[in-house]
Amino acid sequence: MTPRERLEEPLTRALGQPKGKNPLAKLGLETVGDLIDHYPRRYDDPGRLTDIGKLVVGEHVTVMARVVRATIREMRNRRGALMEAVITDGTHELSLTFFGKHRGSLFSHEKRLVPGRTGLFTGTVGEYRNNRQLTHPAFLMMGEEDLESDEEMLAAAARPIPIYPAVAAVPSWKIAKAVRMVLDTLTEDEVPDPVPLEVRARVGLPARLDALRRVHRPDSMAEAHAALHRLRFEEAFVLQAALAKRRAVATSRPATPRALLGPGEPSLLADLDARLPFDLTPGQQEVGDEIAAELASNRPMQRLLQGEVGSGKTVVALRAMLQVVDAGGQAALLAPTEVLAAQHARTLRALLGPLAEGGMLGGAANATRVALLTGSLGAKARKEALLAAASGAAGIVVGTHALLSEHVRFADLGLVVVDEQHRFGVEQRDRLRDKASAAPHLLVMTATPIPRTVAMTVFGDLAVSTLTQVPAGRAGVTTHLVPAGNERWLDRTWERVREEAGRGGRAYVVCPRIHPDDEGPAGAGEDGMEVLPVGYDDGVAPAASGDPGTGQAATGRAAAGPAGDRPQKPLRAVLEVAEELRARPQLAGTGIGVLHGQLAPAEKDEAMERFASGELPVLVATTVVEVGVDVPEATVMVILDADRFGLSQLHQLRGRVGRGSAPGLCLLVSDAPEGSTARARCEAMAETTDGFRLANLDVELRNEGDVLGAAQSGRSSSLKLLRIMKDTKLIEQARTEALGVVTADPELHYAPELREAIAGQLDPEKEEFLERT
Ligand code: ADP
Ligand code: MG
Repeated sequence: MTPRERLEEPLTRALGQPKGKNPLAKLGLETVGDLIDHYPRRYDDPGRLTDIGKLVVGEHVTVMARVVRATIREMRNRRGALMEAVITDGTHELSLTFFGKHRGSLFSHEKRLVPGRTGLFTGTVGEYRNNRQLTHPAFLMMGEEDLESDEEMLAAAARPIPIYPAVAAVPSWKIAKAVRMVLDTLTEDEVPDPVPLEVRARVGLPARLDALRRVHRPDSMAEAHAALHRLRFEEAFVLQAALAKRRAVATSRPATPRALLGPGEPSLLADLDARLPFDLTPGQQEVGDEIAAELASNRPMQRLLQGEVGSGKTVVALRAMLQVVDAGGQAALLAPTEVLAAQHARTLRALLGPLAEGGMLGGAANATRVALLTGSLGAKARKEALLAAASGAAGIVVGTHALLSEHVRFADLGLVVVDEQHRFGVEQRDRLRDKASAAPHLLVMTATPIPRTVAMTVFGDLAVSTLTQVPAGRAGVTTHLVPAGNERWLDRTWERVREEAGRGGRAYVVCPRIHPDDEGPAGAGEDGMEVLPVGYDDGVAPAASGDPGTGQAATGRAAAGPAGDRPQKPLRAVLEVAEELRARPQLAGTGIGVLHGQLAPAEKDEAMERFASGELPVLVATTVVEVGVDVPEATVMVILDADRFGLSQLHQLRGRVGRGSAPGLCLLVSDAPEGSTARARCEAMAETTDGFRLANLDVELRNEGDVLGAAQSGRSSSLKLLRIMKDTKLIEQARTEALGVVTADPELHYAPELREAIAGQLDPEKEEFLERT
């Protein structure tokens, strides 16, 4: 066995039972490497007992407590004996119950459970006649460990006790013992350290094995914390090195420089600027300059453009695209849904006017074309679009995932713009990139602002530009909470909708589902849009439904897990609500349309059209309207079951109104109880329209795992210890160090342990966490 193979060694062999079964497999621990990376969940102070008052029924726990009494009696109604013990933390008591065939079979327990002595007890918290209890808990009395010497005994008495994520069959102390056995035999050679020595020296970190020993068997809490810090740094470091490497690979192929044309040369960009009905904001100007400079270089741009909702990212992207077209290249704009792709094509054509009418009567002399390519095009339209892309006649090709298909060719693809990146994976970016002979430049746009550390962690391979301002002259949006049960408020809500429609405004009414009789929330339509985010309800396990490609699985009330203790009312559904509104006296005579992902593309277009034109000024829709839909006349956004949406989603939805000169109104209808996380989201929305503040809050309110995607929980996770919001400083430090290492040695010849750690982390299954946000 080479040193490196020690970590691959099966636990059966390492623990001296080559033929035996491995009970630790129940915890997903198969090898030595798995075991030493199974970190304690917490540490107990040997002098202090666990707070029994805080135990939750149904939870698997390990409790340190003192025995009060233990009694054995025969059972009344059937054969057998029962032993009842009571343990205490000094304040609260917990009963332990053991059943035996006869009294004698319980004597061994009785001998160990001596009143006054302290032990660790592990089991699932149950409830019997209003008393919390553990049935057949596994337990270990203090002093029972097989310690060799008095010194060891003394040391153990003062040492924090690691408490591991455990299962009934494998209590925490058995894990501790196994870890100890394995750790004692390992040498530093056998535990490769992905953090190179010089980085460790600079940052002041112990070697990996050293840290592991201290995490699993600390002499003090300070030691445990220092060791955990080192392992946390390692996680951040490996991740940042992976991102730095990805960036290095992405920029290793040269790009074709697409410089700005000189003054006087016929230029679509200059012509666009001349015909824009507004002045660019200083932010748009600045970011535009940044992008223009990068496009002119032969290093492919790798940039993230994030910005406040309505800050005008589309124009920034269009100007970048025109610079490339002016220089003889083409640009592709990748949108997450058909609705959005179609709208982008419309918006770009409108902004460009005659500049987009290449080859048409009345088109400008240097005009280009905007082609639209989506999965639902008819054969003829599709052929035309493909031809326009392949011949170069279309300078700009807008599309959905269909753009990624093999049949799509470009004459000279110079820039890929990915809108609303959170719906696309890194791999999809790469596929578009492969359609160009030279590496194309890349501009990724997020829908809403994201916190800095999230940007660093999830988009760490991209440079970041930020648009913070929205153009002047926007009237803004007022937000109110409407209690779902309050008929008077609801009446008033629909009256407001009618009033707005009456004065030429438009109103969106967003529901979480399409059909009233569907289980759970709206199933992902063909666009993969109608989904609710994961983990948004307090303590409810995310259901595994939903489109895996969107990174946001659906959770409906019907799909709520066992911990969902709120009374479950069905979620509001588009089709039902539309019927209801049509019957409402307040809305009599007001045209009401519907839009959702299960409509045919032509029906979707028509619904959008009739809404935008004002023919049907009320649109009952799913979250298809979430991203980027732009109808300047829209003034009201009513969100039903608002608590079922995530903060960034709510912010996006709200961003659909108040875009013109008329003030917007956002009404969040919800019955989430006060004090719940769901309610907190709605309240935050009512309090601020600042997307950056909401983004930070969002991460704080969410389970950490959800930030990086569902794949983050459990063993497959590469981030076990890192906390995106709390570990900001550490992530920044790790990023600087990782960049240094990768820049000096892009192939990581001199850091093979790091290279392997990255390869292990970025296997396809685990890479998901980079894609899912
Ligand atoms: P987002 O950043 O949310 O994608 P959009 O690009 O959709 O925002 O822009 C929102 C609206 O603002 C569009 O109607 C766009 O034409 C308009 N807009 C963009 N830039 C400006 C500007 N500098 N001044 C006024 N309106 C602008
Ligand atoms: Mg947009």
